[in-house]
Amino acid sequence: MSSIGRARPTHEPQGVTVLGSTGSVGVNTLDVIVRNPDRYRVVALSAHSNVRLLAQQCADFAVPYATISQSDLAADLKDSLLQTGARTEVLAGAEGLLEAVEVPGCDIVMAAIVGAAGLKPTLHAAELGKKVLLANKESLVVAGELFMRSARHGGACVLPVDSEHNAIFQAMPHEYHQSVASPVPPDGPSAARQTQDLESYGVRRIILTASGGPFLDLEPGAFAAVTPDQACAHPNWDMGRKISVDSATLMNKGLEVIEAKWLFSANAANLQVVIHPQSIIHSMVAYRDGSILAQLGVPDMRTPIAHTLAWPERVDAGVEALDILAMGELTFRPPDRGRFPCLRLAFEAMEAGGNASIVLNAANEVAVESFLAGRIGFKRIAEVVEQVMQTMPNDPAGELDDILLCDELSRQTANRVVKSYG
Ligand code: NDP
Repeated sequence: MSSIGRARPTHEPQGVTVLGSTGSVGVNTLDVIVRNPDRYRVVALSAHSNVRLLAQQCADFAVPYATISQSDLAADLKDSLLQTGARTEVLAGAEGLLEAVEVPGCDIVMAAIVGAAGLKPTLHAAELGKKVLLANKESLVVAGELFMRSARHGGACVLPVDSEHNAIFQAMPHEYHQSVASPVPPDGPSAARQTQDLESYGVRRIILTASGGPFLDLEPGAFAAVTPDQACAHPNWDMGRKISVDSATLMNKGLEVIEAKWLFSANAANLQVVIHPQSIIHSMVAYRDGSILAQLGVPDMRTPIAHTLAWPERVDAGVEALDILAMGELTFRPPDRGRFPCLRLAFEAMEAGGNASIVLNAANEVAVESFLAGRIGFKRIAEVVEQVMQTMPNDPAGELDDILLCDELSRQTANRVVKSYG
């Protein structure tokens, strides 16, 4: 009998490790957990440098383990923990992130580190067969094939937290959900089920919605003067600064297209991006018989977070239901790849295959960081990415070491390009 929809037996709360607990998704995850104390307990948290908030979270949730990935801050974290009275064991550095998903009682891993820095621990969680709640889209962008293969080998259940992919997941058919609930190793007896493409589920198209970000209707001449604070002021979502800039350039949608390719075995022909400025419909699935299924809700990340934590059940997320009568008009239009070249570049990287998405992501991370630090202007972000993509050879993606090397070389190239603009 399928486990989907089965009533939840009474048992101990599930242990959750939150990687990136001090970030926007991390904080929202803890907010959902605090509303459901009978179901979840926090077993480990991680941050990069925000010692004070991490220590406070450890105290609030009585967390047994905490990792600070900037290892020279481990002593500060111990001091802060002493002040809060939390009895938390401190882990540190890249190794500490791997240990955080191995701690006793860890059933679920929320992967909410920003950027390719999240790849190794997220991959490790997949290899260990955890229930992986995937917010860190960069893991799939840079290592999609490796990640999905590792998840199948490890028997991990990978659930998308990104609101669009979560919406698509919710609109997918029962057979698809079953294949996610009980993953089969690639060489296992039912392996064929794992490699089914969208068509075999009767799906004609995946429609990813995009708000269009804060500059949807900005005059082309005004892009050059955009400031980091303007780029981070998203009209509908409250997010971390990196993803906010990605939303303003539409690179975020491009990364999501690549993420969808790996999560749903999709391709450029059956992935469509539609601008939907109200961010009410979070994405849609179009079926062979003409039906389109959509997921709607107020733009609040606690909904997809709660959905993945509890799936296939539902728990309180602290989110008000959408007031259908008050929501007004829902509008749609095609994206303008001329004004938003990052979206075009992401489609090109996806279609090129090999290491192109690794190069795209690394160049984008460097460019966004440089923009946020005031070293380059907004328009330069796409220019840096395009120049790095033209410079780096298109090789096969390879295994983890090859991926990390390509990531590093692309960052070096991107830094040189940024300097050349100086
Ligand atoms: P934030 O910038 O708000 O938080 C990032 C988290 O990662 C923080 O805990 C930060 O620690 C930690 N971190 C930063 N750099 C490193 C590093 N080098 N090594 C280890 N940890 C690091 O990001 P978001 O919460 O906005 O996004 C997290 C992920 O979720 C991203 O991949 C994003 O694309 C994805 N996502 C986010 C959404 C959102 O609404 N925010 C929506 C959908 C997806 P510290 O605080 O100490 O710096």
